Amino acid sequence: MRSIGFRFTRLFACSLIGFCSLASAAVSPSPDKPTIAIAIHGGAGTIEKAKFTLEKEQAYRAKLQEAVETGYAVLNKGGSSLDAVVAAINVLENSPFFNAGKGAVYTHEETHELDASIMDGRNRQAGAVAGVKRIENPINLARLVMERSPHVMLAGEGAEQFAREQQVPLVENSLFDTEHRYEALKKAKQKMRDAMEKTPDYQAALGQLEAKFKMGTVGAVALDKEGNIAAGTSTGGMTNKRFGRVGDSPIIGAGTFADNGSCAVSATGHGEYFIRYAVASDICARVQYQGKSVAEAGDEVINQVLKPAGGTGGVVILDAQGNISMPFNTAGMYRASKRNGEPSYVAIFKEE
Ligand code: ASP
Repeated sequence: MRSIGFRFTRLFACSLIGFCSLASAAVSPSPDKPTIAIAIHGGAGTIEKAKFTLEKEQAYRAKLQEAVETGYAVLNKGGSSLDAVVAAINVLENSPFFNAGKGAVYTHEETHELDASIMDGRNRQAGAVAGVKRIENPINLARLVMERSPHVMLAGEGAEQFAREQQVPLVENSLFDTEHRYEALKKAKQKMRDAMEKTPDYQAALGQLEAKFKMGTVGAVALDKEGNIAAGTSTGGMTNKRFGRVGDSPIIGAGTFADNGSCAVSATGHGEYFIRYAVASDICARVQYQGKSVAEAGDEVINQVLKPAGGTGGVVILDAQGNISMPFNTAGMYRASKRNGEPSYVAIFKEE
């Protein structure tokens, strides 16, 4: 999707020169065919070209493409934005490349604790699960919480008990084991030990570690032919996190938000900041109350609010007109989008 790539380059240039018209971000509405669109991410962080072999880069791009095409196919058949979000996220959860489902990172205790949330832009219904250990596709359970429980979020044992009642099979936690994530945990623990030798301050050591090891998460936002938008996010959290730690991904307004009147957002990044800055709802509030475009609102929150505060990460944003923005303040973000039958746009690094 060249136009979107062009738009990002433009946006980048805008932030360098300080002003710029973002009119090119607008989608021209077609009277005969409703706009359908989807944008996904597979995490943001220190994702630099030098760290990739050609094969690895191609494999990541192919998986992102598969996820965005899978979600788009749902929309193209007239499916709902919620169904498209879940379908795209399932592809990413089932891949060991991304920090969600099968590729989830390890906690300090060498287990996996998964978080996910989903929101329906039609009516602000939402569902979330936090700290689940035995759910293969946490985004599906988040949706069941939304649709079949009176609650928004269920955590830990309670969420798994609910899953049983809903005939969702419980899997072994070891299903999420991968060698590369285990190596990352060992490295993270070693880095913590090294840092604590210099300064025996656990919080400071953890702070240093976070810059390198926190990133992951998958998410999607979609617009269906009925004009409804939805957002969803799923994650394994942060390598070496304390057991019981919950990040922004299952928190409505922080990691996920959707309202047809403003926008749909799925976030990835240093969860503690995304919670404290209510990132997803702040972006949509700027769209709704200040009349900002999704590109302007996303750039403001990610680059002008979060970055100076020390919060790293990015978001995918979509409005009910099909405008897409995918800002991030890290070296890279796995991302892809597709709209109205145009070729899909797939990118990893900054200047794409
Ligand atoms: N936001 C996730 C969390 O803090 C992690 C990430 O997106 O990298 O749990």
